[in-house]
Amino acid sequence: MYRCVNCGAKIEELYRSYCENVLKLLECDNCGYLADKYIEYDPVIILVDLILLDKRAYRHFLYNCNLKHYWKLIIIIWLVESFRNLSLCDYRSTNIETSKTMQPTFDGHCNFYLVLLRTAFSFVAFVIVVVLLTKLKWYFRPKCPDKESTTHLWKALVIGGSCKLLGLLEITWGHIFSAPHYFLIMGYTLLSLLTAYSVVSDSGKMESSIILGMGTLVYNCASNFFPTTFEI
Ligand SMILES: [Zn+2]
Repeated sequence: MYRCVNCGAKIEELYRSYCENVLKLLECDNCGYLADKYIEYDPVIILVDLILLDKRAYRHFLYNCNLKHYWKLIIIIWLVESFRNLSLCDYRSTNIETSKTMQPTFDGHCNFYLVLLRTAFSFVAFVIVVVLLTKLKWYFRPKCPDKESTTHLWKALVIGGSCKLLGLLEITWGHIFSAPHYFLIMGYTLLSLLTAYSVVSDSGKMESSIILGMGTLVYNCASNFFPTTFEI
């Protein structure tokens, strides 16, 4: 089942094909606008709208595109975040003279596999908290969402969280630290998560911010709780 990108109403078909080269976009019965104008758009324009955090583009991407291989994106995000965590972990353990260079250092102080586990543990904790809180919210609604909603929810978390890949620029530039540009990346990632989450959960900004804020809090707690070195 597809969705209208304007109002989010369910719709059975987005267009009708009369012959090979003639295609007619259908209007949404609920709002009267074209159900999904992005079908005829160039992918670059869709990407620009996604960057501008347009909810319609997010609806098109999450509901009307048959995207597969989300797991590959999850693995890439996991590896990039683990790399950053490993750099930060070793950076904190280096002496002041080394740290003045502001370059990533890998002195082996932190165990790579433990950092990988810690990142995975933090991500899982974040997703579990957000999904549970959202399901709790849905439970008290008069109209309970269908089973597909949970799938769309975790897809939204993956798509929204993929802005963390902007951290790859840090790796290129060799500034993997708590510099101002990292806070910009974090801020943009949170805004992207907020947009994607509010689209699939049909929540207001305040509700979405509270749930995602609690998820982020648990993510940080899980990161601090998990050890990164083998202590004897
Ligand atoms: Zn509509």
